[in-house]
Amino acid sequence: MLKNFFGKFSKDLGIDLGTRNTLVYTSDGGIVLNEPSVVAINMKTNEILAVGNEAKKMVGRTPAHISAVKPLVDGVISDFEVTEKMLKYFINKAHDENFILAPRPRVIIGVPMDITEVEKKAVEDSAKSAGARKVYLIEESMAAAIGAKLPVSEATATMIVDIGGGTTEISVISLGGVVSWKALKIAGNELDSNIIEYVREEFNVLIGEQVAEKVKLNIGSATRLDEALEMEIKGRGLIDGLPKAVKLNDSQVREAMIKTLMQIIDNIKITLEITPPELVSDIYEKGIYLTGGGALLRGLDKEIAKATKVPVRIADDPLTCVVRGTGLLLTDTELLDAVVSPNVDDL
Ligand code: ADP
Ligand code: MG
Repeated sequence: MLKNFFGKFSKDLGIDLGTRNTLVYTSDGGIVLNEPSVVAINMKTNEILAVGNEAKKMVGRTPAHISAVKPLVDGVISDFEVTEKMLKYFINKAHDENFILAPRPRVIIGVPMDITEVEKKAVEDSAKSAGARKVYLIEESMAAAIGAKLPVSEATATMIVDIGGGTTEISVISLGGVVSWKALKIAGNELDSNIIEYVREEFNVLIGEQVAEKVKLNIGSATRLDEALEMEIKGRGLIDGLPKAVKLNDSQVREAMIKTLMQIIDNIKITLEITPPELVSDIYEKGIYLTGGGALLRGLDKEIAKATKVPVRIADDPLTCVVRGTGLLLTDTELLDAVVSPNVDDL
């Protein structure tokens, strides 16, 4: 009871600072925030006009001097200052009216495998200046595995492939640590770009990022489908500059995306090759787990299974695995101690 009482007001937070989406988890509210990692900035004054959903709404609808920035694109913190402001905004938003009463919270943040020490420090400092008492940084793939309820601290290996917007992370986890891993700067955004390029080359039509993503979600697939899918999209004709409609089917979209998908699959194979044999045999038994939005691409699980000869499973609710993992760690101190990556201050 007492624990509940304090739990309620201390509002510890788990955060998935994704290249595409940022999610925040509180111990009493579950996932309380899920918004795009976008910030709208007035380039003349450097003033931040909106963050998250509000900023995304402004994309493409603003005067030239207002720009929508994705500070985490490619998984590296490309813009410290904007990242800090975005993180602050999300942390404050996740706290409700109790914030003033609340002791400063502990915050657990999932960060990419290949983040540099400087970037780690930047994330940590941002969270502190947003009011965090203690900041724990945890590898995103570890958080994803915990969110997917995989046995990360046991003496058995788990392979997790997290396909997000800007990055794909392939990790093998055993005994509370990441044993082997590969991080790629290709993921969902690259698939969208592949579709844009295909439509430009085949039809001489220019389409926007958001249209390309819709095509991927509606008719995209990694493997041949039993039933064909089709979709009409509109773009700008490159020859006359006028609006033009184009009909696309699933096999064309597959052709557009195939190179990128093969790169992801090849890197999964390479990661298996650099993993010690005992662990490979665990992975073979339990399967490869897919998380992140890319896990939802039709038939990607089947193609990976075919190429690696290892069974592949899509984690439940793959888009929220990382944040749910950080959330589970808020209440499991023992596991947190086992998996947390050393804080810069403690080094
Ligand atoms: P991040 O962790 O980098 O913020 P997410 O895990 O939130 O990324 O995934 C976002 C990516 O997943 C986007 O590129 C989005 O287009 C893609 N995505 C989401 N749903 C689907 C789906 N059903 N099929 C294919 N891709 C999807
Ligand atoms: Mg992610």
